[in-house]
Amino acid sequence: MSLYRVIYKSVVTVPPVPWELISSILAKSAENNKNLQITGILLASETEFFQVLEGEQEPLNMLYHHIVKDERHADLFLISYDLIEKRDFSKWSMRGVGLNDLGGDFTSFLKEKYGTRAGQLVFPTDRFQAFALLYDVVVYLGKNSPD
Ligand code: FAD
Repeated sequence: MSLYRVIYKSVVTVPPVPWELISSILAKSAENNKNLQITGILLASETEFFQVLEGEQEPLNMLYHHIVKDERHADLFLISYDLIEKRDFSKWSMRGVGLNDLGGDFTSFLKEKYGTRAGQLVFPTDRFQAFALLYDVVVYLGKNSPD
């Protein structure tokens, strides 16, 4: 079966997003995504989400449309929807990363590179910048928190 990848960003409805909320999303995702064979990563600043979802087309579309309706975020911006050869996040049904909980130097580096609004990192909408951000985060995680 063909694999697809969705990348989008959205705005947190009631900022600052507490880690408990991210944690409850991740708990639900661990359960649902495993059944749907969806993998990915969810980045969160205090004000925005940025998510990658990978999987087969039908479950992926279904989950994306489900997530769009979630009132805990709004203004979803679809960055890319691509046919992919293989998963990049195969080991995570949904890895959550709170960007303000990473090392201060790394968070400052991301803010300088991708820009800020009201002191918070602004996730890119440009697809190449989005891939660059993912690369930066994944390399950082590999060095600092392997799983
Ligand atoms: P229910 O759990 O019955 O929830 C229905 C609605 O109630 C939700 O859409 C939400 O608006 C609200 N709600 C639910 N729990 C809470 C809460 N603790 N506090 C406040 N409001 C709440 N789900 C996945 O399965 N996989 C994912 O990868 C995934 N990624 C997500 C990424 C983001 C940025 C967000 C905001 C949500 C994500 N979700 C994900 C959650 C998803 O939107 C649904 O809430 C989840 O799939 C449960 O669906 P349900 O029909 O059982 O809804």
